[in-house]
Amino acid sequence: MADNPRQGRPYRRLTAWLRSQRLPCWICGHEINYDLDPRHPLSFTLDHLIPISRGGSLLDQTNARPAHRRCNSRKGNRSTAPRQPKAQALRW
Ligand SMILES: [Zn+2]
Repeated sequence: MADNPRQGRPYRRLTAWLRSQRLPCWICGHEINYDLDPRHPLSFTLDHLIPISRGGSLLDQTNARPAHRRCNSRKGNRSTAPRQPKAQALRW
């Protein structure tokens, strides 16, 4: 699992850069609430103009687009598993 480039620092930097642009969703055109919990269906996700599976660059700013989580997954891009929340110690 250590090979996932989406966990890498350059990808995180790209995500932070895109997030700072405060752009609307490029799929549906509606604004994105950048303060939502990342698991929220309308939260911000980094999408790619050209899917990585079709040769798009993962780390290229010109290939990065902001999208709602819901819109992103609705495109049928199933190459990315839903991100699990960080394991938290459950206190009962
Ligand atoms: Zn959207």
